[in-house]
Amino acid sequence: MIFGRKQRKPITIPSKSVDTWKYTTCNYCSTGCVIEIGLDKDNKIVTSRGHADADVNRGKLCIKGLLEHELFQSAGRGTDPLMRNKHYDEFETVGWDKAIDHTAQKIKDIQNKYGKDSFAVVSTGQLLTEEFYTLGKLVRGCIGTNNYDGNTTLCMASAVSGYKRSFGSDGPPGCYEDFSHTDCFMAFGSNLPEQHPIIYWRLKEAKEKRDFPLIVVDPRVTMLAQFADIHLPITPGTDCVLINSMMHVIFSEELEDRDYIDKHTQGYDELKRVCAKFPPEIAQHECGIDEDTIRQVARLYAKAGAAMSIWTMGINQSTHGSDGVANINNLNLVTGNIGKPGGTSLSITGQCNAMGTREWSSCSGLPGYRYLEKEADRQEIADYWGIDPEFFPKKRGMAQTDIFPAIETGEIKGLWLVATNPMTSMPNLPRIRKALQKLEFLVVQDCYSDVETNQYSHVYFPASVWAEKEGCHTNTERRVNLICNVLEPMANSKPDFWIFNEMAKRFDNGQKIKFPDKPEDAFEEMKELSKGKDRMLDISGMTYQKIKQQKGIQWPYREGSENEQGEPRLYTDGIFQTESGRANLIAVDFVDNNETPSSDYPFWCNSGRVVEHFHTRTRTGKIGNCNKFSPTPYMEINPDAADELGIGQSEYVRVVSKRGDAVVMAQRTHRVPRNMIFIPFHYHDCVNRVTLGLLDPYSRQPAFKQCAVRIESIDQQEAAQINLERRAF
Ligand code: SF4
Repeated sequence: MIFGRKQRKPITIPSKSVDTWKYTTCNYCSTGCVIEIGLDKDNKIVTSRGHADADVNRGKLCIKGLLEHELFQSAGRGTDPLMRNKHYDEFETVGWDKAIDHTAQKIKDIQNKYGKDSFAVVSTGQLLTEEFYTLGKLVRGCIGTNNYDGNTTLCMASAVSGYKRSFGSDGPPGCYEDFSHTDCFMAFGSNLPEQHPIIYWRLKEAKEKRDFPLIVVDPRVTMLAQFADIHLPITPGTDCVLINSMMHVIFSEELEDRDYIDKHTQGYDELKRVCAKFPPEIAQHECGIDEDTIRQVARLYAKAGAAMSIWTMGINQSTHGSDGVANINNLNLVTGNIGKPGGTSLSITGQCNAMGTREWSSCSGLPGYRYLEKEADRQEIADYWGIDPEFFPKKRGMAQTDIFPAIETGEIKGLWLVATNPMTSMPNLPRIRKALQKLEFLVVQDCYSDVETNQYSHVYFPASVWAEKEGCHTNTERRVNLICNVLEPMANSKPDFWIFNEMAKRFDNGQKIKFPDKPEDAFEEMKELSKGKDRMLDISGMTYQKIKQQKGIQWPYREGSENEQGEPRLYTDGIFQTESGRANLIAVDFVDNNETPSSDYPFWCNSGRVVEHFHTRTRTGKIGNCNKFSPTPYMEINPDAADELGIGQSEYVRVVSKRGDAVVMAQRTHRVPRNMIFIPFHYHDCVNRVTLGLLDPYSRQPAFKQCAVRIESIDQQEAAQINLERRAF
């Protein structure tokens, strides 16, 4: 008898007979990877691959992108519009006309009875840009409520606010190519290998070719921190203290770029005065980083030929989110690191098209970075759309995080949720549940009818998934790319673009404003609105065909532009979008206003993402291989803390805050310090049952990552039962 390898059957990979490859862009994170989806000769989806010629991903995809084609046929997809029956206990299937007529009438009834702003709309960062533009037309131009926002308030609002305060406009100034030019790279609260794996791969490749210091600021030993040259395990919420202290060192050792500061900035004296209050020997006690390391990092950054900073939710999701962003911008401005290769301040965006909503949805203003507060902007858009400018409010209404408290107080009576799932994503879920139950009318529009929030809706609109539609995304580095409709919409689902167009027909202004039938025609409108020598967000030179040819083009890309890939960087001339043309140096003092650990609640609770899942798992929770690797809500706990509490590996525990409790499985790991736990935020009825979500005063973004909890033991069978019940949706 023969034993060993010779007797084993070789592993075979099932042959996938692809007849056609179709071009599209990934609809999860903001990296913007280009995907080719393979169809067989019967037009059935069989596989997908990264596009080898796309500059962003160069043939690579992460696990989510690789399996994204499975979404077309995934479980839980909505097939038909649904309306509650007359007892409001069961859904019944209805036709589109009935569902849209009923919804339009309910919106009008609520607005007539309680006022225009009593009906709110909250969308997402995951529609296509033409859909955002059309939704903006519908909400700002036809429905006329001022309480309109996107769930991007939960992820990118602080970046937007910080950019506007520093540079006079939103718009990340750098690009991935900067990794190949930088001499010092600093990441604040950003775990690229898990959050943006392909951006991480670009960074790693650049670092391998031309070594430069990688400095990671994060309270956890994240995967990125494990690869860092210097890891700064900062006390949660104290990034501004660290940055002020770094600038203190830079100013006192005269390492700043005087020439750049004099020519291109304003506010230097006040910034220097405030930073003087943060000498490293004092700051170390607040931010938890020893004084010598603060000095070393400050010198490294300031002396580098080109230095760049990136950040993600570790900065944005904080009561100091907007200040944190402004302060990262300060650091780059005083060292002359804006608008040059390898020298930039680059927010790494969360959702695939959070940039598209910032640019075109009219949530926080009017299309193309225009302001509701500026009369000329209101007039220009009103003229273009053909309506009275008085129809527009003169300042922005409520953000998403203010809309829910306004439901509690009775100010908001009706709500339309588009591709967002607050029953998992919002902090302090017990309050969100009560708020949704209090609404007189709730419409949920989503690809999945089993999305948790749909339990509370009166009407459900089934939307098509991303590549059953056509339109664009803008990624983190301002690159506009194309999503092609690889398949027709499933069953009776419809593209969001179609749903908004149909709704517009039911409103008076919908007869005056043109709502094109094709996304490409909406794109042409956006191009016209983007033209102008003073407009930074200029896409007038783009066409769908050119975008596909170039595998994405970065704005600004003006009509007649010769640079076929668009402009990689903003502010290369040192002229900013402020009135004076100078960037604002914004002095940021520090007020410790977080909920912090106490004797009753001795642990920091931190939350974030894992590589296999996206947001509230509406999609990745349905993909076998994503779910298989990360099926269960868990918490990371330091083994010393676990020993003290008698918690073994894989045991269930109850995490309790002043708001509620979460039941999770313990994973003992040194990735978290002794006084912190970490829980992924993707799971329904989990970490956001305990989070507090104090708001940043500028951006209204919640501080998801800073609250205090205690750990209690729980009977293992009871825990399993609770988990089953809470995961039932
Ligand atoms: Fe999609 Fe982001 Fe993964 Fe690229 S890195 S495949 S864009 S999820």
